[in-house]
Amino acid sequence: MKKIPVLMYHALEDAQHPSGQDSLSERVYVLTREQFAEQMAYLQQNGFTPLLARQLQQVDLPQKPVVISFDDGHVSNFHLALPILLKLQFVATFFITTGFIKQAHYLNPEQIRFLAKSGMEIGSHSVSHPFFDDLTAQQVRYELAHSKQELAKISGQNIVNFSAPGGRLHLQTCQLAQQQGYQGVFGSTFGLYQQPLLCNIPRIAIKRHTSMAQFKQLVAQNRWLLVKKRLLDVGLSHSKKLLGNDHYLKIRHFLLGQK
Ligand SMILES: [Zn+2]
Repeated sequence: MKKIPVLMYHALEDAQHPSGQDSLSERVYVLTREQFAEQMAYLQQNGFTPLLARQLQQVDLPQKPVVISFDDGHVSNFHLALPILLKLQFVATFFITTGFIKQAHYLNPEQIRFLAKSGMEIGSHSVSHPFFDDLTAQQVRYELAHSKQELAKISGQNIVNFSAPGGRLHLQTCQLAQQQGYQGVFGSTFGLYQQPLLCNIPRIAIKRHTSMAQFKQLVAQNRWLLVKKRLLDVGLSHSKKLLGNDHYLKIRHFLLGQK
């Protein structure tokens, strides 16, 4: 069975387009335009075929499939990522938090529409970016339903994929998402996708400090690097369960300078 890397990006920046993400925990996820361009060029030169999130379930997979995804709906997705993707004829999936729309440094409805018209998939990343494992079932339903509805209205697409803010979710999140017509729920546990998984789909976070050498190993599915990263991830999620979200965040921030 083919394993597929699902890459997870957030914001990009260049000299003309500062990201506005200045705290240490945010900057970890901000890549330069050049870093992203180099990574995409590498994928193209090495025969990778980007798929939309909604194509993960298809029977006929290309030889070297990869999914490129963005969380949050930062405006650089439109200004910096889209031109690079279009030039290479690449597709990507943009998980958007509807409560951020029109805020400074985030996408507006016209830009979201343009992404959709350009062949990109629009997915939901909730209304208010809460941690779903802290919510009641009623709150989860609200976050899933309202973001789906608003993004469908803006983009003209049927919204069928969701990514959980901070990668935090319960099994119940997937059940509720499915009831509302979502197909896939993406998390941020480190790993590769394998059919037919639809709940807590693992992704590979590409961060500012991810070197080109590491990027190549990750998409090439280097076994040792994957095992090492996975162990670190399991260690962190174990501490999360023991400590609860609040304490976990403080400690993680302290240890790694990450959110
Ligand atoms: Zn997010």
